[in-house]
Amino acid sequence: MRLVVYDDYRVGVLADDGVRDVTAVVPGWDPTPPQVFMNRLIAAWERLRPAIEEAAARATPRPLASVRLRPPLPAPLHIYAAPSNYYAHIAEMRGAPAADATTARELGFFLKAPGSICGPSDAIELPDRPGRRFDHESELAFIIGKEARGVARAQAMDYVWGYTCLLDITMRAGGGRNEERSLRKSFATFTPIGPALVTADEVGDYRALRVRCWVNGELRQDASPSDLIVDIPELIEIASATLPLQPGDLFATGSPPGVGPIRPGDEVVMEIDRIGRLALPVRARGW
Ligand code: MN
Repeated sequence: MRLVVYDDYRVGVLADDGVRDVTAVVPGWDPTPPQVFMNRLIAAWERLRPAIEEAAARATPRPLASVRLRPPLPAPLHIYAAPSNYYAHIAEMRGAPAADATTARELGFFLKAPGSICGPSDAIELPDRPGRRFDHESELAFIIGKEARGVARAQAMDYVWGYTCLLDITMRAGGGRNEERSLRKSFATFTPIGPALVTADEVGDYRALRVRCWVNGELRQDASPSDLIVDIPELIEIASATLPLQPGDLFATGSPPGVGPIRPGDEVVMEIDRIGRLALPVRARGW
């Protein structure tokens, strides 16, 4: 199933004929911050799925083009992100072969601020930082379905509820500055996600997916998650050994090679087959 959040943060099932409103079935739905209704829906998914399917079947579809898509997961408690998780990306960043490099296996994860999330109808807004470079990183993201504490990799896929596209927008260290990674990746709008959350049963084997990213129509990234250094089960093992993972927690699996700069006026598109396509303009931040 594909779930979207749209207009005034209503919840819909994305079907072939459009968006079907299922908001009435979402427990404790409330569009005002902290907007944790999707987290609650995911936590109760097994019990609620039949009611969601029934409500979707009854609803009158609205054309996708007629709604404003919001981030499909507006407020995960955590955004875990894998650093240095494709050898070819490490090599391009250090300008040397990556065989002896430090990877996500040693580094574990970093956190992006959930407040940096934006959605498919938004823009990537670059702050005014003269001389600094801003990059796109297009990443397969997954969502945790139930509390995970000390989970071994053999059981870890049972905790994956679904998937989405994620752009990990990054201000590179440079110009004599080397701010913490969390700051450089947590500016408002620096975590576009969507267009939908796609349940794991609909995606199947994530290693067979293809992650692509274009800037102004030019293909920049084209990768397979089968090349991840630390795969999804091991990411869950590492993070859940650190603290309990919660339903709705979001993981960015790391950027493949091909990252490059973006500037105001550009358009960034990323697509993962079976998951969807995100297209956002880039502009200068107005505040
Ligand atoms: Mn990244």
